[in-house]
Amino acid sequence: TTKKLTDLQIASQAEMKLITEIAESAQIPLDAIEQYGRYKAKIDTTKISGSALGKVVLVTATSPTPAGEGKSTITVGLSDALKQLDQKVIVALREPSLGPVMGVKGGATGGGYSQVVPMEEINLHFTGDLHAITSANNALAALIDNHIHQGNELQIDPRRIIWKRVLDINDRSLRNIVVGLGGPMQGVPREDGFDITVASEIMAIFCLATSLENLKERLANIVIGYTYMKEPVFVRDLKVEGALTLLLKDAFKPNLVQTIEGTPALIHGGPFANIAHGCNSIIATQTARNLADIVVTEAGFGADLGAEKFMNIKARQGGFAPDAVVVVTTIRALKMHGGVTKTNLSEENVEALINGIPNLEKHIQTIREFGIEPVVALNRFVTDSEAELITILNWAHANNVRISRTNVWEEGGKGGLELAQQVLEILEEPQNFAPLYKTTDSIEEKINAVVQRVYGGEGVQFTDQAKKQMAQIEQFDWDDLPICMAKTQYSLSDNPKQLGRPQGFTIIVREVIPKLGAGFLVCLTGDIMTMPGLPKEPAALRMDVTEDGQALGLF
Ligand code: ADP
Repeated sequence: TTKKLTDLQIASQAEMKLITEIAESAQIPLDAIEQYGRYKAKIDTTKISGSALGKVVLVTATSPTPAGEGKSTITVGLSDALKQLDQKVIVALREPSLGPVMGVKGGATGGGYSQVVPMEEINLHFTGDLHAITSANNALAALIDNHIHQGNELQIDPRRIIWKRVLDINDRSLRNIVVGLGGPMQGVPREDGFDITVASEIMAIFCLATSLENLKERLANIVIGYTYMKEPVFVRDLKVEGALTLLLKDAFKPNLVQTIEGTPALIHGGPFANIAHGCNSIIATQTARNLADIVVTEAGFGADLGAEKFMNIKARQGGFAPDAVVVVTTIRALKMHGGVTKTNLSEENVEALINGIPNLEKHIQTIREFGIEPVVALNRFVTDSEAELITILNWAHANNVRISRTNVWEEGGKGGLELAQQVLEILEEPQNFAPLYKTTDSIEEKINAVVQRVYGGEGVQFTDQAKKQMAQIEQFDWDDLPICMAKTQYSLSDNPKQLGRPQGFTIIVREVIPKLGAGFLVCLTGDIMTMPGLPKEPAALRMDVTEDGQALGLF
């Protein structure tokens, strides 16, 4: 049976419970709840006790294709299934960015009968967290330019400022700009540029901070640029970490919503997984672990990006380990990795499926590199043929890969009961989780570990600029940090056209940028951009609003 309803229609028909009821079901004390309307609330985490013993189930996927994988859909559906099995569960997700919403991807609220609601509000402005992060980021930019204009006591070299302005929209025209034009009254002219908010260091800090105090400490540690003497300038030198923390204090409280089936959901923080670390906030994950026995959480894009950074950055900084990992894939996506074009995906093609399976194989191997035995969630589409299903199930059986067909998009939690059972079994088993590298390894060793053991590449090449930056990072003693790779999501390599499981490639590292507040070093590879552009036919063209204020064409 084909579903005629869109995600938005299904979501708007959902019978939501009042958010106070959801809070009660999650045993959140009412005095910890700050309501934003009837169906959203922020949680004052200082009023929640608990010892963060909840187990963490990480949902990741094969390399994304335009065919769609359905990671958020499975994350939500799996949580609902666990709840149907009487587990105390909370789902923790990232907040959507308007970039993808208006651009290509669609929402980050799941799909079909496995969605978080109110879908429309979550996908648009939600509780304003992204606006707060944008404001804090741009307040800092303004304070830097003002400092220079007012006499530049710190001797900041306007040519060596690395702090950029941000906007939560794909806007390629703002990638490189000049500010301060118009004469002495308008500030000091300099080259500047915009990143998308979800790539900003403040977003990363927001997601990695463990308390408001820690948030302030991290903000103080941001390097904004260098002086004429090439010495680093920190936010603490500008003495504005207090103001920036103040701008973020309410946003920093995790947001509580619900799935269509009434499972509590925490949605908080949303860095992209290609150009940032790709996971919801540590404060939301830890709050969920305080409240529930199982937390199902998602990391962005394929296991080469979000999951790698979940393991090497988030888990390390948060002091916890993933207890189970789910790798989502679809027959359609694997056929695309096997060479089928987007327009031919609905036709049966067993050969292409077989040719595409190596992409799945690599991601499974990656999870095993971290010491965890994953389960594959095969997200069923109506176009999957019986022969294709048998092919992939046989492959899994022959290769000792746990796999579960899930139908949560069509059936909600009921369609994920078998997957939930398998996850519960894994949670009973001991895991040997360990990050892939030590932070004390050299920068090159850390990058090589990811390139060889996660991407399956041969090695790394550095541009002269990257080499210079690495030397400087070592000179300042900043190299004892995890790395945050910025790489295309479409390929395991740094070339978005190489689908499947490319072999024998090297990764080009263009730049290595210290993010001392976030506590990692960003490595830009290939042509990856920290401010995306809109596609030829942006999703915005399909959107509208009715006279009585109902959203149309969101998804
Ligand atoms: P991801 O998190 O991997 O980006 P989402 O869960 O956001 O993917 O899903 C992307 C889109 O695909 C959504 O619009 C969702 O409704 C749709 N989708 C997901 N699973 C299925 C499925 N099994 N059948 C049809 N459409 C699906």
